[in-house]
Amino acid sequence: MGQVQEHLQKYKRWYPQTYQLKEYPLEGRKTLTVKNRQEIYQRLTKPQRALIETHKKYQMGSFFLKHHYLIDEAWQFETVNIDENYNRKLKRYHLFCQCGKAVKYQFVLTSKKTQEKIALGITHFSDHLGVSAEVASDIKKGINHVDMALDELLWLKDKKCLFPEDLWQQYLFARYRNEQLIQPVAYNQVLAQRVLTFREVEMPIFVADYLALLSEIRLIEKASAKREQPKFVGEKKSFEAYALHLMSSIPEKESHYHPSSLALYEEWKKLTQTEQARVLEEFQQLIQQPSC
Ligand SMILES: [Zn+2]
Repeated sequence: MGQVQEHLQKYKRWYPQTYQLKEYPLEGRKTLTVKNRQEIYQRLTKPQRALIETHKKYQMGSFFLKHHYLIDEAWQFETVNIDENYNRKLKRYHLFCQCGKAVKYQFVLTSKKTQEKIALGITHFSDHLGVSAEVASDIKKGINHVDMALDELLWLKDKKCLFPEDLWQQYLFARYRNEQLIQPVAYNQVLAQRVLTFREVEMPIFVADYLALLSEIRLIEKASAKREQPKFVGEKKSFEAYALHLMSSIPEKESHYHPSSLALYEEWKKLTQTEQARVLEEFQQLIQQPSC
């Protein structure tokens, strides 16, 4: 080993500034106070706020899908509305529970029987839905957890952390290299998709995503170091064209989808390719049938 691979030498020559990754705060995360959180949030641009909100909605949605047994079977989780500026003391709020109380998180559930919608604050789940206080407290914990997870982005933002453009460029280059390998490494498309949405609004990325990108780069390096690999052929211009093409071909955010579609999709992914084709075809037939 020891010898730097040829394609990396090229990269170093092309981009001497980004060859060495800048530091990214991988640890040392602090818990934010409500005041901190709101202050930092105020400083975000509109698209950045929208990004955080989408992620919260999505994560809370998947929390409810995973814990659907927590809620009365008659109700289905629809969406959650979030008021990040919620402040009771300053009388700053615009979302309400069924009972009229102002809330930060408004959970919208639909009755499976009557399609009636109900909007609830998290603390009133047991009052209005008749779930036990214990279950309501479990739901509350889960939601808090999502809240904390998203705090990481605010913390990074507060540390003046930027989108890690250097890492992203190395990642694109690794993908470029990957295309030439005899057996290209399988990469996580959803990860690339997510990171790209952060890049679009100039946000730092989750530490876990940073590490995941790094480990994909390493995997490709490892595969590329194997003896039998063909020689790397690459030009700076062709790489840059490839990178642009790659970014425009990554489909947009996954988070627009309805939680039920995502749940079905998770199930569908477990099938073999032949099964998937059949299921798609049959599903189309099934929904086109007049129901009786
Ligand atoms: Zn209420």
